[in-house]
Amino acid sequence: MRILYIGKRHFSLFLIPTMLLLSTLYAHNATHIITDKVVVVDAGHGGIDPGANRPGVLEKDINLAVALQLKDVLNQYGAKVVLSRQLDVELSTECDNEKVRGRYHRDLMARVEMVEESDADLFISVHANAVTNAKRHGAEVFYYNKSEKGKALANSIQAELCNVTETSRTAKDADYFVLRRNKIPAVLIEVGYITNMEERQQLQSPEYQRKLAEAIAKGVYTFYQ
Ligand SMILES: [Zn+2]
Repeated sequence: MRILYIGKRHFSLFLIPTMLLLSTLYAHNATHIITDKVVVVDAGHGGIDPGANRPGVLEKDINLAVALQLKDVLNQYGAKVVLSRQLDVELSTECDNEKVRGRYHRDLMARVEMVEESDADLFISVHANAVTNAKRHGAEVFYYNKSEKGKALANSIQAELCNVTETSRTAKDADYFVLRRNKIPAVLIEVGYITNMEERQQLQSPEYQRKLAEAIAKGVYTFYQ
């Protein structure tokens, strides 16, 4: 009995501190991997450009809310975040490239220039989707097909978002300006469909936006693992 008692005592004496140490190391490792990485988080559209819309819901507002939550979560992981916009504004006036014509393209170019100016490691553009099929739901992640790292990042984020949105999808390639013109791994995320009634409500909830942000951040972390 005495041996058993000592054994149990030793068990708790060693196991508990070991478990605490391991969990601390894991948490440290999780943050360490993306500490000092610079991520441009781009809230799609803004100002006079609302993006997709349905009565009472503007895509630009959902994009900004998710982008702000994503900044918060990535900061907790130790990453530095540059937001393309923190308010409801368009960015065409921020564009420095005189050759780019038209308000729409100047707005997009300003988002790409932000990456160059901030010497960023990753670019994540946040959008919300709209289609005529009211049943379609879930998040979709896009990358530029000439970027292998962009594809890897997109797949990593897509896998995490599939858990939140209960869908099974793989990331797709798309020829979007902000993906094509970026020299760093870049993804565009459609976080959900405002044309699906249930998802439209979820997308407006700060709790759900947080879940999306956490999934995206986890995808970023997995990408660097
Ligand atoms: Zn959009």
